[in-house]
Amino acid sequence: MSQPRLILFCGPSGSGKTTIVKYLLEHIPQLSFSVSATTRKQRPNEIDGRDYYFISVDEFKKRIEHDAFLEWEQVYENGFYGTLKTEVDRINSLGKVPLFDVDVEGGMHIKEKYGANLLDVFVRPPSPDDLRKRLVARATETPESLERRIGKAALELEYGPQFTHTIVNTTIEQACKDAFDLVQRFLSTK
Ligand code: 5GP
Repeated sequence: MSQPRLILFCGPSGSGKTTIVKYLLEHIPQLSFSVSATTRKQRPNEIDGRDYYFISVDEFKKRIEHDAFLEWEQVYENGFYGTLKTEVDRINSLGKVPLFDVDVEGGMHIKEKYGANLLDVFVRPPSPDDLRKRLVARATETPESLERRIGKAALELEYGPQFTHTIVNTTIEQACKDAFDLVQRFLSTK
């Protein structure tokens, strides 16, 4: 039997990757979002179990000890994010293809583990300045967390060349279309 396939979208906060991922999930029924666990605060528009599994730092650390994660990262101080092994099993048992939206380092771990069965895509803004504008416009951050995200985003942009595919998000409509075409090609050729 062939190995299960996976799809990975990475890119800095504010690159538009989450919007692209949502578009793909709406338009390609074969995909299922891999819901990560996190310790960060739930945003008003987010639903526990749909966007993330929101858990405490203690609970997260317990799960690390029990080797429950496929990969995990401490993205910010007390801001842990990770993919639970049970989440990937759940999606595979539905006969669907997991779609990951993780940070760049988590993405590199997934790439190491799954190599050939993986479609890996890096989403980037046309320029670092665009990223700052988008993060400011999103207004979900405090001034401190905004600066932290901008700093991390600049570092993450450097990983771009290590990904097999890159989408430059100049307009979100075109970026979604490019992502859709890539995923359809991947699903139909394996
Ligand atoms: P946000 O707080 O904006 O939802 O996410 C912050 C960063 O954490 C984003 O780059 C997001 O992709 C990443 N992230 C979300 N889930 C995971 C995960 O399971 N593992 C890793 N390594 N990063 C994740």
